[in-house]
Amino acid sequence: MKKLNGTVIVTYRCNARCNMCSRYKRPSEPKDEISVETIRKLPRMYFTNITGGEPFIREDMKEITREIYKKSDRIVISTNGFFTDRIVDLCKEFPDVGIRISIEGLEAANNKIRGLEDGYKRGYDTLKKLVEMGMRDVGFGMTVQDMNAQDLVALYRLSDELNMEFATASLHNSFYFVESKNIIHDRPMVARHFEDLINELLKSNSPKKWFRAYFNHGLVNYIYSRKRLLPCNMAFDTFFVDPYSDVMPCNGTEKKEIMGNLNTQLWDELWNSDQAESVRRNVRTCERNCWMIGSVSPAMRKYIWIPALWVVRHKLLRFWKSKKYSMYENRIVRDFRDGRVSKAELDRCSTCEMQCEQE
Ligand code: SF4
Ligand code: SF4
Repeated sequence: MKKLNGTVIVTYRCNARCNMCSRYKRPSEPKDEISVETIRKLPRMYFTNITGGEPFIREDMKEITREIYKKSDRIVISTNGFFTDRIVDLCKEFPDVGIRISIEGLEAANNKIRGLEDGYKRGYDTLKKLVEMGMRDVGFGMTVQDMNAQDLVALYRLSDELNMEFATASLHNSFYFVESKNIIHDRPMVARHFEDLINELLKSNSPKKWFRAYFNHGLVNYIYSRKRLLPCNMAFDTFFVDPYSDVMPCNGTEKKEIMGNLNTQLWDELWNSDQAESVRRNVRTCERNCWMIGSVSPAMRKYIWIPALWVVRHKLLRFWKSKKYSMYENRIVRDFRDGRVSKAELDRCSTCEMQCEQE
């Protein structure tokens, strides 16, 4: 069987209180959380993301990582960076692991969004410590919303100075976030900051950053509630497993879709079951149009010529232009600017419940 791309949600407990995620209101009980024995049943993976909730709330993260390394070529752990000592301790044993710390803007915006007093300082100190230790695969993650979009380029520049990865996302609604009211209110303002970031990324000499520019172009498309730029193939060579050991296609669905349970089934039995097939049928017709790295990264691998052509068009064919990307390349952005489509129409096409309009 070919290697898969997996995400292991080890807990739904979280010490933070982010404004765009209510997961902390519905935490998992430690006794129900996926065990190391169950993790042993996972298939071979070329990439695994370990996430939460806040994964480092679990005190057996080292055991979990050790087990996943037996299955996976590469591991990246997403964390809010608060539990510095636990993160540093794990990285001493696994210097090749990737760590992505979510920082939701510069200090004021981050602490307001995250609801953790001192959250920025803790996250940033953890990042610095990891870099000082010589960790090579360390980076920031930022979920862009109206409240922090103005910090987007500043944070990218900070990550660049520190030679770190910079991962972006925008607001999504799903069972995973326990949210249905997330929405971008001032789309042109947020898109303008994405445009600036995309131009910074395209200016660089790193092909990886040029492809990240494409990902951010997809975020502009997403916040204007358009169809995904690439097909979604979740549950075909990609899966999520949650703290209850339920295997799912992704974390973007409105209600949890379950392919099977790894506590009671073996991997092959679960993956080839009728239930898994029926979830795949739902994925084929899914219209939620998420644009999160978990579902986009495998799609960019599979349909590599699409982002590659975009990069050629923007980076190479416009090599003489200082501004290589304009948000108005997207027809929907022009239509909105010129009044051919209204905010209410865009809001209706999003996954947000309509009461958000009044907020
Ligand atoms: S976004 Fe992450 S850090 Fe924030 S509440 Fe949700 S799980 Fe916790
Ligand atoms: S678009 Fe893909 S990632 Fe999003 S909910 Fe649908 S199947 Fe899941």
